[in-house]
Order: sequence, then C-alpha cells, then structure tokens
Amino acid sequence: MKVSQYNYFKPWDDCHYLAYNARSGGVALMTRDNYNLYLDLRDKIEAGQSDNFSPAEAELIEKLQYGSFVFPGQHDEIEELHFNHNMARYDKTILNLSFAPTMACNMACTYCYEGIKKGRMSPEVIEHIVNFVRERAPGTKELDIAWFGGEPLLAMEIIEKLTDSFLDLQKQFKFSYTAMIITNGYLLNRENVDRLSDLKVQAAQVTLDGPARMHNKKRPLMNGAGSFERIIENIKYAVEKMRISIRVNIDKSFSPEIMAEMLQELDRAGLRDKVGINFGHLEALTSTCSNIAESCYNIAEFSKAEVAYYNLFLQSGFMIGKLPLPSQITCISQSVNAFLIDPEGRMFKCFAKLGDPSKAMGYIGDKIEYNNENFTGLFRFDPFLDEDCRRCNILPVCLGGCPEKRTNPDFGKEECCVSWKHNLEPMLEIIAHSRQQQNADAERS
Ligand code: SF4
Ligand code: SF4
Repeated sequence: MKVSQYNYFKPWDDCHYLAYNARSGGVALMTRDNYNLYLDLRDKIEAGQSDNFSPAEAELIEKLQYGSFVFPGQHDEIEELHFNHNMARYDKTILNLSFAPTMACNMACTYCYEGIKKGRMSPEVIEHIVNFVRERAPGTKELDIAWFGGEPLLAMEIIEKLTDSFLDLQKQFKFSYTAMIITNGYLLNRENVDRLSDLKVQAAQVTLDGPARMHNKKRPLMNGAGSFERIIENIKYAVEKMRISIRVNIDKSFSPEIMAEMLQELDRAGLRDKVGINFGHLEALTSTCSNIAESCYNIAEFSKAEVAYYNLFLQSGFMIGKLPLPSQITCISQSVNAFLIDPEGRMFKCFAKLGDPSKAMGYIGDKIEYNNENFTGLFRFDPFLDEDCRRCNILPVCLGGCPEKRTNPDFGKEECCVSWKHNLEPMLEIIAHSRQQQNADAERS
C-alpha cells in the first residue's frame, strides 16, 4: 500500500478537514477523528507496516482508496500517470475532430484573432472529411465532434451534411458519438437549437463578455449593433434542449462590480441554476492579437481574479463549474488522433494557430504526416520530463499546461502553469462551500 503524493488536507472548521486528491479529483470533508486516523495509517504505510491496520483504519482505507488518497501496490505514481498519458497520446480508438465550416462571422469582437474572413467548406473538402472518418470508422470506439469558426451557425447546412454522414457511419460501425458547438450565440435561435438537437449536438459554449453594456461594446455585430439581449433570449430556450456553458473572457477591464452586474442580469433572465459559467484567460498567444497584450492579466493576476469572481458566484448562488479534475492529456496538440480542420481542409493541432496556413500540418485529403514540424513542435512537449512538473502537486490536473506557450518565447515558464497552481487552496474552499450550499438547497426542496 502507498500514500498518494497528490493529497491535500486543510483544517476546515473545528471538527473537519478539507481533503482533496489531484489524481482522482475527489474533494471531501473529513472529520477530525478520521484525519487523525489517516495520519496514523499513513505513518504505518510509510514504515512498511501495511499488514497491521486496526479495524477502524481498514474501514477508512477503503474510503481513502476510493478517492486515490492511498492505493494498493508499490508502484511509482508518476510512472503510472506517465504511462496513462502516453496511452492517451497514441490512442486511435477515440477520434476527436473540430471543424470550422466557415471562418466568416457576424460579430466583430475587439480581441478576435480570426479577423474578417469569408469562405465556406467546399463539397470537395466535405467529401474528404467523410472519407477520412469512414477510413477510420472500423477502429473507432468514440467520435467526438466540435463545431467552431468563425461562427459555425452561419454554415448550418454544412453542419447538417457532415453530421448526416457521421451518423450513418455511427449506425454502421456502432461507435459512440458526441458533438458540441462553440458559438457566439446570436444565431442560436429556436429553429437552430431544434436542428442542432436533432443533429445530436448535446452542448453549446456561448461567450458573454460581461453585462450588456460591456458585452455590446466588446462583442458588437458587424454592423455595430449590440448582441447581448438576443443571446440571452436564445439561451433561455436553448437550456431546455442542451447543456449551455457561458464563457467569459477575462482581462483587466473586468472588476467584481462588473461581474456582479452580469450575474444579476443572468439571474433576472432565470438562468442562475441553468448554465455553467467558466472563465477564459485572454492572452496574446499570436502576433495577430499582440494588440491586446497590455489589457491581459498574467497568470498570477488571472488566478486572483478568478477567486474573487467565484466568490461572487458563491454569494449569488451560481454553480461553480470549475473543478480541479485530472486529465490524461493537455489538449488536442498532444494526441495523434485529434485535429482541427478549417474551411479549406487544412489540418491544425492548435486553436491559436488556426488562420495561419503556414502552421497547418497537412490537408484532409492527404496522408497524415506525423513528421511535420507543425505536429511534432507541440507534440514533443512532455510534462513528465520537466523536473518542476514532476514535483508539482497538481501535475495530474495541469499536465504541464499549454504546449504552445512552451514554444513561445514571450511566455516564461511560470506563465505556463495553470491557475490552479496559484489558487488551489482558496478555490477548494469555494468549491466545498458551494457543495454544502447545493446539498442544503436539495434538502430544503
Ligand atoms: S497548444 Fe495551447 S493554445 Fe493550442 S490548443 Fe493546446 S492548449 Fe490551446
Ligand atoms: S506547468 Fe506548472 S502547474 Fe502545470 S504541472 Fe507544470 S509546474 Fe505544475
């Protein structure tokens, strides 16, 4: 038996400890007595006396094992994580494809890297995509699709055409199928929600950059008009048919007052317990968005802002959607079977590279070239070879952070760490309070 190196315990009140394990993502409140018992059994395990537990310790071990706080065997936890990470990198049974059916957009957001673009996927590109999936279908257990852009709802008929083909293949080859859409929400009207729902799109991510007065400035329509009110009306219907998460891109223009105003507007619209909200950290990842660099937070500042905003969620009764959950892979750049495909059929490995043809790793109609530098440049990053990451208490959650930042000289090593590195402790407290609140609400109703 071994004790996990990813355990975290902190006094919660006079009678409890807050317990968290980064390998399982488990968060629990533990009685003080159980915590003291844990300390005893930890000492026994570390002294090699795993065959000498009292009945009470044996009972607690069962619970601790469930959350990976202790685990059977003598193997090295990091080696196990590294092995699982490598398995996930080379797993070809899961095919993960993100499509931009068009790069055109009906909005003109101030920070957008995509600029003003036109063009839609041609029938030839669509045919290549279907062939690409058909060739891989016999070995596929899961096909995960994301629609993005530009604004993907401007190309609804392409989404329909591709989905019909994917679902035909699904019937034939019996793989599981998931689909989500990243949309600005303006065209997420009843008709489109119903169509997407028929097309098995189970989730949508919609961006709201603050309350109406701020969002309408940052995310105006192409003609300069505001979009907030229409988006909120759309979300009210959409939540009945699919999971909606609201993404709020945070930069220095935000403040707790502004966030509180946005939460009030969502509450008035009846969306308090119907949507999840998560924060995007606006960063100047490419030269095209270097104009926003001055208004961006560094990671330490962003982490602090997150805590302040999630505290507001707690006070206003909103759900806390962000959890320190483990993953096996950082992002699509680390998988041999995940690709972004733009309207011209170019294949990319990173969302920040989209829009720059020189960063494509190939074309959907061609054989995949895994030796292409635009693939290997990001794929080669391995957090298990980094001494800081190996020592880090949240390695299973972060996995070394964004590989693109690792290759970008504008970002120092510290900037590559995720916000959990800076705010795990206060965030765990907020999460635990939120769960207590939810349990109390459930008991009352
Ligand atoms: S490399 Fe970084 S920016 Fe690119 S997709 Fe991965 S996480 Fe996103
Ligand atoms: S990048 Fe930073 S937070 Fe992530 S695992 Fe490495 S040291 Fe930890």
